[in-house]
Amino acid sequence: MPTSERSRRINADLHAHSNVSDGALAPAAVVRRAHACGVELFALTDHDELGGLAEAATAAQALDLPFVAGVEISVSWARETIHVVGLRVDPGCRELRDGLARTRIGRDDRAREIGAQLARAGIDGAYEGALRHVANPAMVGRMHFARFIVEAGACRDVRHVFQNYLVEGKPGFVPHRWAELGAAVDWIRAAGGVAVLAHPGRYSLDDGEMWALIGAFREAGGSGIEVVSGSHVAEHYPRFARLARKFGLAASRGSDFHAPLESRFEPGSLPPLPDGLAAVWEDWFEAARALAQRPRDVPAGA
Ligand code: AMP
Ligand code: MN
Ligand code: MN
Ligand code: MN
Repeated sequence: MPTSERSRRINADLHAHSNVSDGALAPAAVVRRAHACGVELFALTDHDELGGLAEAATAAQALDLPFVAGVEISVSWARETIHVVGLRVDPGCRELRDGLARTRIGRDDRAREIGAQLARAGIDGAYEGALRHVANPAMVGRMHFARFIVEAGACRDVRHVFQNYLVEGKPGFVPHRWAELGAAVDWIRAAGGVAVLAHPGRYSLDDGEMWALIGAFREAGGSGIEVVSGSHVAEHYPRFARLARKFGLAASRGSDFHAPLESRFEPGSLPPLPDGLAAVWEDWFEAARALAQRPRDVPAGA
């Protein structure tokens, strides 16, 4: 069922990062920025981590900003790394928490190996340098290395880093086995959430492989797909709108905001969803707004 026009016009941003993963701002600061940018329904979706959600929810409540608890899970599918966003998850869910904890294992060893490779390519001290950008040592990742490489003067911005380093075939690429697709979707659903395929336009898959991925995702219990994403280019919007309709997936929208100046899109700055799609947030907005606007001096349920 297509989304109502009213729902489609809500400035929903359901994909963003804090320094609990590889964003640069603390969770409350990301929420304040989203609010200042005009976002009306916001999800924090840190990589493989739920640790920022309590702070973000409190900050959102203080601003009457409807908030959705989210996460972005790293998945290995075929030979590709895929990201699956979980929305409206219960951060207390044991199955989700344990699954994410297992997914985080190995990041530090990988980071040391990335550092060693970069040293062989002439960039010294990258592991220690990346760690200076890390607020949560369990989540050291390529973005922290990218920031260090810019700081070291080897590239002018992180976009150029990901063209010359840290990606397959370039120095600083260390393959890693992440969660299984089915397991990631199961954890999200166990936590009461909705699984959304993140930024499909970013994966190096031909048409047949993309169909196979979306089919496998749907089969596993996934029910949404990002159509309008800060990690997409404009040509991706109609393409993934078509695939959303074809596969009966709800559509999502998110900036994938990481840091001021660094990210291409500020929270809430993307175009609305194309017409004729079901928005993942169609039935959420009123409930989230009621929660955000609950009088704080009256006990819940009173
Ligand atoms: P990791 O989980 O450590 O492999 O790091 C992945 C992160 O690196 C992503 O979440 C993005 O923040 C960033 N990243 C990866 N590829 C690119 C790219 N081509 N351009 C910009 N950022 C990227
Ligand atoms: Mn990231
Ligand atoms: Mn991602
Ligand atoms: Mn992301």
